[in-house]
Amino acid sequence: MAHIGIAGAGFSGAVIARELAEAGHDISVVDARDHIGGNSHTQRNADGVMVHVYGPHIFHTQHQNVWDYVNRFGVMMPYNHRVKALAKGRAYSLPVNLLTINQFFNKTFSPAEAEAFVHSIADTTISTPITFEDQALRFVGRDLYEAFFKGYTKKQWGVDPTELPASILARLPVRFNYEDSYFNHPYQAIARDGYTEIIAAILDHPRITVELGKSLGRADAASFDHMFWTGPIDAYFDYEHGRLGYRTLDFESEVHDGDYQGCPVLNYCDEDVPFTRITEHKHFAPWESHDRTVIYREFSRLCGENDIPYYPIRLVKEKEQLGQYVELARRETNATFVGRLGTYRYLDMDVTIFEALKVATGAKEALMNRESVPSFFVDPLGS
Ligand code: UDP
Repeated sequence: MAHIGIAGAGFSGAVIARELAEAGHDISVVDARDHIGGNSHTQRNADGVMVHVYGPHIFHTQHQNVWDYVNRFGVMMPYNHRVKALAKGRAYSLPVNLLTINQFFNKTFSPAEAEAFVHSIADTTISTPITFEDQALRFVGRDLYEAFFKGYTKKQWGVDPTELPASILARLPVRFNYEDSYFNHPYQAIARDGYTEIIAAILDHPRITVELGKSLGRADAASFDHMFWTGPIDAYFDYEHGRLGYRTLDFESEVHDGDYQGCPVLNYCDEDVPFTRITEHKHFAPWESHDRTVIYREFSRLCGENDIPYYPIRLVKEKEQLGQYVELARRETNATFVGRLGTYRYLDMDVTIFEALKVATGAKEALMNRESVPSFFVDPLGS
């Protein structure tokens, strides 16, 4: 049986650790931070409110195996995420739906009327949207784009939406009915005791040891039969092709009495408001009751050397750099690169788990056959 090293105790590292431990391998998980859970980390504050320490994490998936997996390790409470937005002095429902359209244009359109109207104001000359702006103009037209997407996106990504790929906006639906769920997936939930508890349960196995406050690096790969790297791919190679760009987030936290904003997430779409959104954590647990409340005002900026990376930027320059790192990584025989940071992709928690399960299946087979485990199980340069 092999001795496996895993750098990072987020969902990727924990799931791979568990699957390989159950197959009889010995696993050393190491994380540079003083807690497990990566950016999904949750922790109750002094008032007992479960805080999503690195910003809002809502679990949603269409993958039955992922849903079954998380339910094995914790209690998932049904939770339907709904977001509100402030734009030009008024409150709206998001993602853009029939209520948003009717409120915005002061109409009482039916679904068919709204669809015909939006079609009439959308720029249908754009047949294949490439940029974020193309995509928005193509689907909702200039007025809705400027109210809800342009300012928010500039603040979130630090560049003009004409420089961003259409795929970022493709995350958000536009609906011509009053359905205002933020996500379309059949399973949507929040971990009752926090995601950190789920990850702790995944890691709770006699063949797994976890060490916090310690970093691994490329030089450590040789001390294991194989290493899984869930940290930044550029950090593994000591940034020899420069640093891949990320956005990081700053949170201004405040504690108040009662209910601060009446919903879990309120987006601030106007460009002249410096933050992107306010998260009020207790509303992620409507089954709990708290007199006090904690809010996070969220600011996005370019990630510096000592900041925590959140969103991979993946513009043309970064993709070129990524290509160089992927080439180096493909030559590593003793390491596999996984997860949001290891493959430099914007991954939701469920996709992270889905991919980690696939990696574990492939790795188990390779280890059993005494073959080397591939450097990647996805193409980081793909979409
Ligand atoms: N977005 C926007 N206005 C909003 C919400 C989102 O323009 O009110 C854009 C923005 O570019 C963002 C993307 O849509 O990065 C995806 O939004 P999502 O809510 O999925 O972002 P996340 O919660 O992952 O940060």
